[in-house]
Amino acid sequence: MKVIKFGGSSLASAEQLKKVLDIVTSDPERRFVIVSAPGKRHSEDTKVTDALIKYYKNYVAGNDVTASQKWIIDRYQAIADELGLSPAIMTKISTAIKQLATLPIEDNAFLYDTFLAAGEDNNAKLVAEYFRKNGLSSRYMHPKEAGIIVSSEPSNARILPSSYDKLEALQELDEVIVIPGFFGVTVDGNVCTFSRGGSDISGSIVAAGVKADLYENFTDVDGIFAAHPGVVHKPHTIKELTYREMRELAYAGFSVLHDEALIPAYRGKIPLVIKNTNNPNHPGTRITLKNTSNNAPVIGIAADDNFASINMSKYLMNREVGFGRKVLQILEELNIRWEHMPTGIDDMSIIVRERELTPIKEQEITTYLTRELGVDEVDIEHGLSIIMIVGEDMKNHIGVTATATKALSEKHINLEMISQGSSEVSVMFVTQTEHEKQAVRALYKAFFQPEED
Ligand code: ASP
Repeated sequence: MKVIKFGGSSLASAEQLKKVLDIVTSDPERRFVIVSAPGKRHSEDTKVTDALIKYYKNYVAGNDVTASQKWIIDRYQAIADELGLSPAIMTKISTAIKQLATLPIEDNAFLYDTFLAAGEDNNAKLVAEYFRKNGLSSRYMHPKEAGIIVSSEPSNARILPSSYDKLEALQELDEVIVIPGFFGVTVDGNVCTFSRGGSDISGSIVAAGVKADLYENFTDVDGIFAAHPGVVHKPHTIKELTYREMRELAYAGFSVLHDEALIPAYRGKIPLVIKNTNNPNHPGTRITLKNTSNNAPVIGIAADDNFASINMSKYLMNREVGFGRKVLQILEELNIRWEHMPTGIDDMSIIVRERELTPIKEQEITTYLTRELGVDEVDIEHGLSIIMIVGEDMKNHIGVTATATKALSEKHINLEMISQGSSEVSVMFVTQTEHEKQAVRALYKAFFQPEED
């Protein structure tokens, strides 16, 4: 049995919904359909979720909400008309959208979430109706009925483990169940959303709950590219990668899936595939627990900017007991998350995301390190990028880093730091951001197109 999730662009118009119907009906194992709200039809379009945010803002500000309501209702109406759906479904949707503006504003921590969730909730009703009209035995199911029970953290819900038992019972149903993504219900019955883009998480939860054989995540790209298509010309899509590899790539800027979406499917040991609604015959990218094929040492190259490095050196640093702890303690006191910590004998660097620092915090760190810890030199370097080459099979190959550094040195790219974790899933290089793109291109060529030299 398969759980299948469609993203907003796959549900943005009647034309897209027809593709969705074809995909669902082409495989009787596709039994649970998780939907996003209608997304953008073209680059200048507005997502229904964003229109709901505007509607919410007008409502709480006491402004006239008629135009906001109309825009959203018209959006569903256009789809319903083109699909020839009965007026009854639009009456339901339009009532639900208008009812939002009757909810209490005061002491209502879940009001914003309730507005936003309406995008997927009404879309699920529409999609189920469309499926039924086309002869598919199907029904809409609210997350409350499905058993998606979440923590009371508005806009940042987390699934409660008890949900999984209830979800498991859904296995028995023989209709195609359409569940709105992006939100669950708290123990007290409040609608509470995951963070933005969270329908991926819902799909993953349902897949784990019903113990699906596969979680199919349909989006508008053929799969996960081995490098960013905006940087490398026509990169290939990765056929298969492991959850660990995906996590590493996602960390450094690969954002096809919501970060948190991997966890439920991973824990439930459910393989995941990312596929394209507009090109469903393409096999897509499969994310598995373990490599099932013989993989190349490097499967993807990711890069991300906006990093800074706190560099320090102190003569005989290695002999000083507790030095590292004291350095990390000051970061903890200043509430700074750190990412990497490459070290030398007498020096140490701590790489952080730029957003963790402020001029005042930088000053405090510098003063503490020089005055309290007596470091000889400290400087905070900005404008850095990390570049990661990722592949679980790296550990079985010799010379991977050599290939990478050779490619980078041929382009005269200076490496500020290199770091490899003991699990050998990735090697990270730190460069100045101005060299980032060039570095990614050089690495892509070195690992994936060496014959073209
Ligand atoms: N519609 C929500 C958003 O735009 C959730 C999703 O599409 O996954 O963030």
